[in-house]
Amino acid sequence: MRARPIIAIDGPAGAGKSTVARLVAEKLGYVLVDTGAMYRAVALAATRRSVPFESGVEVGEIARSLLATLSFVRGEDGSVRVLFGSEDVSPLIRTPEMSLGASTVSAHPDVRDALLSLQRNAGKDGGVVLEGRDIGTVVFPDAEAKFFLTATPEVRAQRRFEELRAKGDATITFDQTLADVQKRDAQDSGRAVAPLRPADDATLVDSSSMNIEETVAFILARVKRP
Ligand code: C5P
Repeated sequence: MRARPIIAIDGPAGAGKSTVARLVAEKLGYVLVDTGAMYRAVALAATRRSVPFESGVEVGEIARSLLATLSFVRGEDGSVRVLFGSEDVSPLIRTPEMSLGASTVSAHPDVRDALLSLQRNAGKDGGVVLEGRDIGTVVFPDAEAKFFLTATPEVRAQRRFEELRAKGDATITFDQTLADVQKRDAQDSGRAVAPLRPADDATLVDSSSMNIEETVAFILARVKRP
């Protein structure tokens, strides 16, 4: 048993994981590890080198070499900033193209292997909230607290759509966002390695009818702290 727990928050795109995980980490004073950002960073690096997302071996090499330059720092607003060397790539990894790209590159075993040790090192001492798809099943099957956060595809697409519109993307439509969410769900759940699924001992949290504060409170009430 670690002195401070590892909290695993998994679930599909748009379930509110990022916001919920950030708030839970803030409330507890724990470190936040956004594993999706790592896969997004690999997709961005592949794009810059003109390597197709489908080329598993090449993208795996990119993921391994990225480990030397990839880092995460806390922004002034509490968000996690993603750096390549000294370049802040945070806005560049949050586009719809990189969402789907991350989903494609993350299906390659070489890519997952490359990022696994980074994720385990970040969390091993506890006092950490990790958010992703396979934290409770693969990265930390022994995590002290596991949650699987979900909501209907329509609710998730609506949230993502509003986020993209708020960021100034005037061309995006709800139907396109819903199609992207469904495509990512199918890719993430259908892949052979580390598919998206709740761990047997995860607590299921349906955020369709709970707001962010209620979801955070639900999780905090179920985390045992020393
Ligand atoms: O959580 P986020 O939307 O940033 O994740 C982007 C993509 O990265 C997901 O659609 C998923 O394919 C992949 N991912 C993963 N395993 C994780 C985290 C993210 O496969 N632990």
